[in-house]
Amino acid sequence: MTKPRLKIIPLGGLGEIGKNMMVMECEDDIIIIDAGLMFPEEEMLGIDLVIPDINYLLEKREKIRGIIITHGHEDHIGALPYLLPQLDVPVYSTKLTQGLISVKLKERKALSEAELKLIPPSGQFTLGKFKVEFFPVCHSIPDSVGLIIFTPVGTIVHSGDFKLDYTPVDGKPTDLSRLAQLGAQGVLLLLSDSTYAELPGYTPSEKVVGETLDHIMADAPGRVIVTTFSSLVSRIQQVIDSAAKHQRRVFIVGRSMSDIVRMALELGYLNAPDGILARLDELRRMPHNKVVFITTGSQGEPTSALVRMANRDHRQVHILRGDTVVLSATPVPGNESLINRTVDNLFKQGAQVLYDKVAQVHVHGHGSQEELKLLLNLVKPKFFIPIHGEYRHLSLHAKLAESVGMSKENIFKLEDGDILELNPQTGKITGKVASGNVYVDGLSVGDIGSVVLRDRRMLSRDGMVVVIIAVNRQTGKLVGRPDIVSRGFVDTREARDMIEESRNVVARALDHGRDRPAEWGFINTKIRDVLHKFYYEQTKRRPMILPFMVKV
Ligand SMILES: [Zn+2]
Ligand SMILES: [Zn+2]
Repeated sequence: MTKPRLKIIPLGGLGEIGKNMMVMECEDDIIIIDAGLMFPEEEMLGIDLVIPDINYLLEKREKIRGIIITHGHEDHIGALPYLLPQLDVPVYSTKLTQGLISVKLKERKALSEAELKLIPPSGQFTLGKFKVEFFPVCHSIPDSVGLIIFTPVGTIVHSGDFKLDYTPVDGKPTDLSRLAQLGAQGVLLLLSDSTYAELPGYTPSEKVVGETLDHIMADAPGRVIVTTFSSLVSRIQQVIDSAAKHQRRVFIVGRSMSDIVRMALELGYLNAPDGILARLDELRRMPHNKVVFITTGSQGEPTSALVRMANRDHRQVHILRGDTVVLSATPVPGNESLINRTVDNLFKQGAQVLYDKVAQVHVHGHGSQEELKLLLNLVKPKFFIPIHGEYRHLSLHAKLAESVGMSKENIFKLEDGDILELNPQTGKITGKVASGNVYVDGLSVGDIGSVVLRDRRMLSRDGMVVVIIAVNRQTGKLVGRPDIVSRGFVDTREARDMIEESRNVVARALDHGRDRPAEWGFINTKIRDVLHKFYYEQTKRRPMILPFMVKV
């Protein structure tokens, strides 16, 4: 009898922050853990989001038993609206996570076909050969879970995103006793969150932020405007609590924030004392020191309410002298310059701005080194895979595992696409599947490749030059001198001589072929070559060069 084989295949989130997706495969059964998105980096021009490549899964669609979602952050649920219609499998999650998934799916009109299964924070369910159990973990969003997965090969623990806050906002700390119990029984594999593996010590409790918010609400002379991620439900709760304490009323501004607050109130994950939430039409009658706004825009997103307020472009709310703006979130890497610009604008409008560098207005939701070590010590796995992080995070987390006594050969630093095969004694990387970025640009998914991105980059930096070549319709031979039109490349008046000279350059390059019919492939390449060289010598720029042939 052949022994069952277990494959672990990360499709996203290893070697990068975001678009988390982990595949586990045992015989004829596949389960997927998380389906997240990543926000584009600055050089990905015009791209709205990035999601994992699921070609591997599409080939094995009939084996997939379900998608399990650990919590409701974008980097864990954000790809669902795009991937779920292709995979068409049930999605398992806790209640708040399901609420957030529903909001996402509804936005993309993908809710009606989706099969969403509700599991309590300590619930169990079976997907083929996998028996899955949730365990509550503390993170910056309520209802987060880690996973215990019983397989024919052994028990797996997947931490999800977690920290060990002993005084969390929702009062539900990570269930360490269940993990200790498992550790005693024997765990084959631990996969654990590496996002903050660089930080020594312990992550401060959410309670610290609550205290800072209390001081701000008490001391601010005017209105307080708090921005955060709309999914940071526990932060929204802290703002409401603190506003209530200081007799301020709370205005929720912006569609995504309003949608999520409404959903979280309905499901009981947010509690607002009667009468504390106000409508914007009540704003005019209120003294400034009795007002709190909660809105999005902590990342400087150009269309967010905060950025529009800062640019006097918001319909209902403008920044006033004496306002206090609190950016209660960490900058997502790549967004720093947008955020800094927003902060500058807010100061210019006369607001006081508090952000993570000047006040403790945010703590992150991931465990630091001591917490990661504690988890390793409790679970005592035979094998370990650091997950959720760039390569340096994964490496540092691997080092931590060594420092608590794990042997090097039992620690696997995987990258997206690696296939790790495990049996109870050994593990080995046995191959690689397709993985990478799928770009979502407005409404289209996946048809933007790296070539398109490179072109956009070139256009945005150095502009474009169109070269028009005329050929005789009958003979196919070149006629006259080429025309050149440029956009975004040089000032066409000042550089008239240079552009004029470039027409000669092209004419000379094509001259010796004049008595033969023009061969397009050759002419195309030739024009690009000579102009790239000429323009680079003249301007040190590399505009995109587009030759066209017209028949006359
Ligand atoms: Zn998270
Ligand atoms: Zn995450």
